[in-house]
Amino acid sequence: MDVVVVGAGIAGLSCARALAEGGARVRVVERGRVPGGRLASKRYDGRYADIGAAYFVADDPGFAAQAASWESRGLARPWTDTLTVHPGGSPSTGPMRWAAPGGLRSLAVDLAAGLDVRLSAALDAIPSDADVVVLAMPGPQALRLGPPPGIAAAARAQVWQPVIAAVLTYPAREWPDFHGAFVNDHPLLATICDDGDRRGDHAPVLVAHSTAGLASQHLDDPAAAGPILAAAVGDLLDLSAKPGVEVHRWTYAQPEPVDAPYAVDGRVWLCGDAFGKPRVQSAWLSGRAVAHALLD
Ligand SMILES: Cc1cc2nc3c(=O)[nH]c(=O)nc-3n(C[C@H](O)[C@H](O)[C@H](O)COP(=O)(O)OP(=O)(O)OC[C@H]3O[C@@H](n4cnc5c(N)ncnc54)[C@H](O)[C@@H]3O)c2cc1C
Repeated sequence: MDVVVVGAGIAGLSCARALAEGGARVRVVERGRVPGGRLASKRYDGRYADIGAAYFVADDPGFAAQAASWESRGLARPWTDTLTVHPGGSPSTGPMRWAAPGGLRSLAVDLAAGLDVRLSAALDAIPSDADVVVLAMPGPQALRLGPPPGIAAAARAQVWQPVIAAVLTYPAREWPDFHGAFVNDHPLLATICDDGDRRGDHAPVLVAHSTAGLASQHLDDPAAAGPILAAAVGDLLDLSAKPGVEVHRWTYAQPEPVDAPYAVDGRVWLCGDAFGKPRVQSAWLSGRAVAHALLD
């Protein structure tokens, strides 16, 4: 079986790995210069900051085994089960959140190792030279490839919200330890994470994620959201220093969950984090589910 997986996010890579392990001939085609998609770490002044997923949770046994494999090789580590909730600033305990010392994208690089992954290769149509094509990406991106009707319908049914991420680099760590924070009922801010804490190098870097409302207003000019997010973080944490600000726009950041593991129409499949809670683990599981269905 010849398979082309379009998209080297965690869904596409987990799908491709499982297919390769099952004996399929698989190649992954990715439009970006690096693998990872929204499992994204970008280098600013020589240091990686996580600008997409803030962390991951591994409460599925299969994904927990994957996390344990990363941990055993020093690629990932349990970070914290306690985040702060604003307003109020009280701690909230939940599942263990995992982080990656080398940035979360390093986990995608690990999954891609040994696979045939072609980078900087954006497709604008469904490849015709494969028995099976797996579109491992948000539905709106899959629609641009002119998929068959069943996939187009599933893609159109997905509902997505944007996020703007701001990487805020301060002269020094001026805040009390808090790991990360959910910011509820704020017009601009949704979360703040201490990137130095989660990466373990204690760099004075915070990463803020905007609300969908702020991101929607700034999709054409994301840079303008940077100072707005920096000011909101400064107010919330009572910081006096002005940070350096870098922004990243995620037009398709967070889907509303669909109650199915994937969609399929003929030889074309669609997977990704829309098929489950919008989480790294769901994307990994959706990709695996496609691979296992194909191998069966
Ligand atoms: C701001 C933000 C915060 C988040 N926080 C968390 C969190 O704290 N915890 C958590 O678990 N999850 C979080 N998530 C969600 C998590 O990042 C995603 O669930 C997961 O990374 C999705 O993986 P995916 O493979 O389904 O999709 P993607 O990562 O989007 O991968 C799709 C890939 O397809 C490629 N592609 C698209 N079109 C084409 C084309 N035409 N040709 C070739 N390649 C193409 C893209 O470049 C991309 O690499 C967050 C996401 C964002 C954006």
